Amino acid sequence: MKRKPLALFILIFHCACALYLVSCGIKNGDTQIEENEESKHEHAYGEWVTVTEPTCTKEGLKQQKCTCGKVVSEKILNLGHKVTNDVCTICGALPSEGLEYKLSEDGTYYIVLSIGTCTEVDIIIPSIYKEIPVTIIGDSAFYFCTSLTSVTIPNSITNIGDSAFEGCANLTSIIIPNSVMNIGSSAFGGYKDVKGDKGFMSVNYIGNIEGWCNINFGNISPFRCVEMLYINGELVTELVIPDTVTEIKSSAFSGCKSLTCVTIPDSVTSIGDSAFNYCTSLTGITIPDSVTSVGDYSFSGCTGLTSVTMGTGVTSIGDRAFSGCTRLISVTIGTGVTSIGVDSFSDCTGLTSIIIPDGVTSIAPTAFQGCKSLKSVTIPDSVTSIGLGAFNGCDNLTIYCEAESKPNGWDSRWNYSNCPVVWGYTAE
Ligand SMILES: [Zn+2]
Ligand SMILES: [Zn+2]
Repeated sequence: MKRKPLALFILIFHCACALYLVSCGIKNGDTQIEENEESKHEHAYGEWVTVTEPTCTKEGLKQQKCTCGKVVSEKILNLGHKVTNDVCTICGALPSEGLEYKLSEDGTYYIVLSIGTCTEVDIIIPSIYKEIPVTIIGDSAFYFCTSLTSVTIPNSITNIGDSAFEGCANLTSIIIPNSVMNIGSSAFGGYKDVKGDKGFMSVNYIGNIEGWCNINFGNISPFRCVEMLYINGELVTELVIPDTVTEIKSSAFSGCKSLTCVTIPDSVTSIGDSAFNYCTSLTGITIPDSVTSVGDYSFSGCTGLTSVTMGTGVTSIGDRAFSGCTRLISVTIGTGVTSIGVDSFSDCTGLTSIIIPDGVTSIAPTAFQGCKSLKSVTIPDSVTSIGLGAFNGCDNLTIYCEAESKPNGWDSRWNYSNCPVVWGYTAE
């Protein structure tokens, strides 16, 4: 029995470390991670050496070497055609011919409708067609054009339609100019085969973070298959959202696997649906007090997320907001939260305890379903409604309720899995 306090200490220590590491390392300088690796040999890399030069359409490769022999490789983004006066000033390529267009009803712009008779694999969309600007890439314009290896989107384009490049499995990178304001659902969605999602490897947005945050994205993440998001050629890893941004729009960073850490400023008031879902490298998130709503699916499938801290402004947690965050061990639900959405924390199999803050009035059906490690939940007497199976499949759970007995507003099958309940519980 003597070992128990030590084990407990180690557990607490680990939790503290985890919490410490997720803070982006910005507040106290950038040396936190390095301190942890002090004992190891510190690699001293030389200059980057270009092994393969990038071209307009193909990525290059660069490497740097440590004295110990370790080599780090990084790809160099393709340059993209630089088309001025209808010719690429780098390689001399001309805009593609044979694309199908439609003139807008008012006759002021063209819409690219389809690949038409064009057989090129390296498509260059012109900025002007028959002396009228080309501003829209239509819905499904290049849907499942699997032969395409590159597409140049000119900076006359403002809208990219739904599914415009969906299924273009051989596009490995795409450059988005900052003229683009709307990107439709599944615009760059890959497709599924037996090995899972296939599709884009990288997106390079030629603009700044604010510009990216101002784009309206379709409800179904346009970049579901993106591995790497670059903004102005820089890989987005530790993202600091500027304080000129007031909302993080739906799907803004959905599927961005390069993202490890995000700092949300207190100018932001809402986090849109699917804003960060499937950001599998994201380790922690702190939602500032200014944010009032956390959208549906906003962090679902963030399997690297270990810690969530919510500010006092959050009133509602969307449906499936944190669903499937399997490594989540620490959640601080904001003290302003009144409603917890359907499946909001379902299948968070790493969660061990949850304190529902006083002020929450409703817990939706299956909110904590499948949280197999959950041992304790504390429910204050402010909760007037709990939906069907809110703690379904939480096999190790004891539920501590401030209420003396089941309130009328709780579903008759709220405790569908018959977890032990302690009624009349008072926290010390
Ligand atoms: Zn080394
Ligand atoms: Zn070129």
